[in-house]
Amino acid sequence: MSRNEDLQKRRDAAIARGISNQLPVFVERARNAELWDTEGRRYIDFAAGIAVLNTGHAHPAVQAAVAKQLEAFSHTCFMVTPYEVAVELAERLNKLAPGPTPKKSIFVTTGAEAVENAIKIARAHTGRAGVIAFGGGFHGRTFMAMALTGKVAPYKAAFGPFPAEIYHAPFPIAYHGVSVADSLAAIEHIFKFDIEPARVAAIIVEPVMGEGGFYIAPPEFLQALRALCDQHRIVLVIDEIQTGFARTGRLFAIEYAGVEPDLMTLAKSLAGGFPLAAVVGKAAIMDAPAPGGLGGTYAGSPIACAAALAVLDAIQREQLCQRAEQIGLTMATTLREAAKGLPAIGEVRNLGAMVAMELVRNGDPHQPDADLTKALVQHAAKRGLVILSCGLYGNVIRFLVPLTASDEIVEEGLGIVVGSLQELTAGTVKAAVNA
Ligand code: PMP
Repeated sequence: MSRNEDLQKRRDAAIARGISNQLPVFVERARNAELWDTEGRRYIDFAAGIAVLNTGHAHPAVQAAVAKQLEAFSHTCFMVTPYEVAVELAERLNKLAPGPTPKKSIFVTTGAEAVENAIKIARAHTGRAGVIAFGGGFHGRTFMAMALTGKVAPYKAAFGPFPAEIYHAPFPIAYHGVSVADSLAAIEHIFKFDIEPARVAAIIVEPVMGEGGFYIAPPEFLQALRALCDQHRIVLVIDEIQTGFARTGRLFAIEYAGVEPDLMTLAKSLAGGFPLAAVVGKAAIMDAPAPGGLGGTYAGSPIACAAALAVLDAIQREQLCQRAEQIGLTMATTLREAAKGLPAIGEVRNLGAMVAMELVRNGDPHQPDADLTKALVQHAAKRGLVILSCGLYGNVIRFLVPLTASDEIVEEGLGIVVGSLQELTAGTVKAAVNA
């Protein structure tokens, strides 16, 4: 039995099956856009820890900042004896958040926790209960975040009942025939059939749907949501957890729409691999909850805050927004070229380096090919590339290349994607579906 097989057996025996792992690849070491498993095999990493490593594995500046902080102290609890790194990070995020209104921040530990807190803040500010989210959206696995998540299997099945007053509207997805007008009409239906706008505290939306399939919200949709929220005094929460920190070619994807969010949820690439999340928003809204109403023992860990400051510096110094645009262009061009000879590729879409390819049967958007998608993830791994699937129908391959990856690595990884897909669709390899 190989070392990976042995570890997978131990993992299966020791860890509950509710936490799945995509690949039986146990990591020993990782640098920038590459990792090595316990058997010494090298992989190119196009998953980046699910959008956490925009600055790559073990970025030297992040490592140095963490080492320095670790030497000083690792934890006191910000709610007991605070520290400057968290204050400095809040000051920087408040300045970087889009729009002219003065901002304030809070720190927590995970994306789901940021979402939970954004809803608490919106409810405290408005004195209202209702929240509108979107079908296919993903906001996390804790109770409120799970309730807001718009996909039953595997995220919600068996876990109800959910918090009350949550409503879902369809997300505009042109490829699947849902227009901006359809989505907006569905919100009007919610106002007519389910809850009056005067009882809605918040609308929460991802500017590019992440887990749901990398569908890009058209700017006019986000602008319409802004207008609707202004009209009814509803808090607009933009979930930038997967889209944030240069991934889309802007620091935040909402910048493309020119919309000022009331609240933004941030996590993942914020701290380059250290657990940190934030809610950043308009100061008057952020200050609604009373002292002690928000917080957490590890909220704003000094180690993670030090890492985040180094991440922000690296994004600026290494011009990672521009780099995201370049990587996105290279990838989308190569994949669109490959699609000409591979009818299984139904659509290639990208906003900066948030790149996706949707796999279908017979070139038909209504025939999603989830089996081929799963097979591609496994086959690419055998050829030394880690990629992720996603999507409402499980038929989207998403690419989250570290923005620090070299052109050579990007091209090598793309070669594996295209070669693997060619082999699978020509039937020259057997699909080893190991979901
Ligand atoms: N919101 C979005 C948009 C996400 O992509 C995720 C994680 N995939 C979350 C929230 C939840 O974050 P976490 O897993 O850190 O709780």
